[in-house]
Amino acid sequence: MDLYTPLFRHVIMPIYDRIKGKNLIPYVNEYQQHLSWSPEQLKDKQWQELQKLIKHAFEHTLFYPKYWKTHGIDSYLDIQSMNEFEKLPVVTKSLIREHYREFVSDLHPNNIKKSTGGSTGQPFTFELDIESNTRREAVMWRGYGWLGAGLGIKTLYLWGADLGNPNQAKSLKNALYHGFYHRKMLNSFAMNKDNMINYIRDINLYKADAIVSYVNPLYELSRYIIANNLKVTSPKRILTGAEQLHDFQRDTIEKAFKAPVYNTFGCREFMLIAAECQQEKQLHMNVDHLVIEVIDEHGQTLIGSSGDLVITDLYNYGMPLIRYVNGDKATIENAKCNCGNPLPIISSIDGRKLDIIKTTTGATIPGELFPHMFKEFSGIERFQVIQKELASITVKLVCNQTFSTIDEQSIRDEINKYSKGSLNIYIERVDHIPLTKTGKHKVTICEV
Ligand SMILES: [Zn+2]
Repeated sequence: MDLYTPLFRHVIMPIYDRIKGKNLIPYVNEYQQHLSWSPEQLKDKQWQELQKLIKHAFEHTLFYPKYWKTHGIDSYLDIQSMNEFEKLPVVTKSLIREHYREFVSDLHPNNIKKSTGGSTGQPFTFELDIESNTRREAVMWRGYGWLGAGLGIKTLYLWGADLGNPNQAKSLKNALYHGFYHRKMLNSFAMNKDNMINYIRDINLYKADAIVSYVNPLYELSRYIIANNLKVTSPKRILTGAEQLHDFQRDTIEKAFKAPVYNTFGCREFMLIAAECQQEKQLHMNVDHLVIEVIDEHGQTLIGSSGDLVITDLYNYGMPLIRYVNGDKATIENAKCNCGNPLPIISSIDGRKLDIIKTTTGATIPGELFPHMFKEFSGIERFQVIQKELASITVKLVCNQTFSTIDEQSIRDEINKYSKGSLNIYIERVDHIPLTKTGKHKVTICEV
């Protein structure tokens, strides 16, 4: 750790907080303290905050009292336990689009507005009040902090940046801003085979203590480093996020950078939902900031098996998102982690609903299959599986010279095994596969 880190954390940031009228450092300290609590204390705190939020939603939004009334809830006092809370109907993106103004609290006219690109191309907008935005930043810094990439740690981000070419003044402003936070940003959107060498040069020059990155760009960079036997400066740790991290990707990144890789899990609506611990690499959920549930297709709560994630932000009073289905699938466990962190565990992130390929026989093929299958082919640089109709799939491949027609046949054979021959398979060789609007690489897209 260099001198800037403690200076930033204890002197510069508190002053910055005061100038900006923000409470980031007090919130980081508050959340940090919760790590010494027992799981029971955390549960109590969660329930207290949840009751306040429910009351607020009842009194200050138009949507929730109306919506809950149709499910037999006439007053916030009707919700007296977590069990009763779990019976409340869920909220979806389409409900929010339809009733947008009714979700916004009448006490919060100055909310911050944010949008998500949406993997289906349909953008989604939501709001949050300023205070809750600071809180979610604090929760993120706590999680990054226990992984050694907290506030003021010299960190290199390989992350999606604004598209287009910012002018010089904007670039300088960005550089100063990131320099202040002790970080350097490399734009993962702009990375390709031809300029990867420049990214490695920047990584080697900056000598970061931590690298934070989208999964796929870092995985591709790691493959490039290994294939070309390049020298790269090892950070002390690497944090990945924004995309699903498969075990083989973690292995490849660790091999290339000779540093441990830790996964984080979040989404734009809630920022950091969970982060792994260093000791056990288990994803700990931020239940002192969010209520995180998993439900089956009938709305029943699931523990120990995979289902849809349903999340409540305990502090977004500006536009309460209560039992919001974010589109991810996951498995929650009741187990305790040996690392001593009292926050409960997500045992796996199971991809998005969109990732599942369907067949005419009713059988489904999990999206997970494809990265595992394609990693065996060194001739494939990038791929995407798209299903636009039930009877067929299109496999787009960006290949190098080593890819052969034998490989193509093996892919067909392998997919046929799972589809029992019920899918027509179209293989298309392409020069590149576009990223989503948020710079993510979608492995499978099912539109049926
Ligand atoms: Zn742990």
